[in-house]
Amino acid sequence: MQRLVLFDLDNTLIDRNGAIQDWAAQFAARYSLTDHASTQLVESVQERAFPATFETIRAQYRLQPSANSLWRQYCSDIAAAVRCPERVLTGMDALRATGWRVGIATNGATDIQNTKLKATGLIGRIDGVSVSETVGARKPETAAFEAAAVACGSRLSQGGWMVGDNPETDIDGGRRAGLRTIWIHNGRAWPDRLSAPDHCVPDAEAAITLLLADDCSRSVTT
Ligand SMILES: [Mg+2]
Repeated sequence: MQRLVLFDLDNTLIDRNGAIQDWAAQFAARYSLTDHASTQLVESVQERAFPATFETIRAQYRLQPSANSLWRQYCSDIAAAVRCPERVLTGMDALRATGWRVGIATNGATDIQNTKLKATGLIGRIDGVSVSETVGARKPETAAFEAAAVACGSRLSQGGWMVGDNPETDIDGGRRAGLRTIWIHNGRAWPDRLSAPDHCVPDAEAAITLLLADDCSRSVTT
């Protein structure tokens, strides 16, 4: 039977934080804003960015372009800035070549998440994706994980793995959805108030190595 692994996108497969820093510096320069504004811009989009975020930003800095045009520019700037490491891309191929179904479960706006999936080359290397705005459910809701499993031609009832950087939405949510979990720590300590993940690794490449090794050990014993 094929096995399922779902990955988070931002700060798991791609460096969203780095892309946001670069975007904010460019944006501040383009509209002759201060360095302080650049820091504030990072804070404005840190959690999530939606078209409405740019109505606030437009008013705050008295910018000429429409909020919609600022949002579209943001989508293309971020898409140009984000990268998925080559070893992660080839790791996704290796997982699928060894019988895994590989999906992405991400919270965010449909436009920008799909633009990033295309720009990084991830879209051609996965079996399915669930973007929260598209499916109408956000991690940690089980429905968001179920939508990703179904998009991959599977079901949560068949089990699987969730890999992500967010302790609440990815790992606690994934565990409640019945998935085994791998936390990308990105240099942080696990919050003790939550049940520990099954595994803790520094980055997505290490998570893929772990999954491939698990696959090998199982195929030896079965
Ligand atoms: Mg994330």
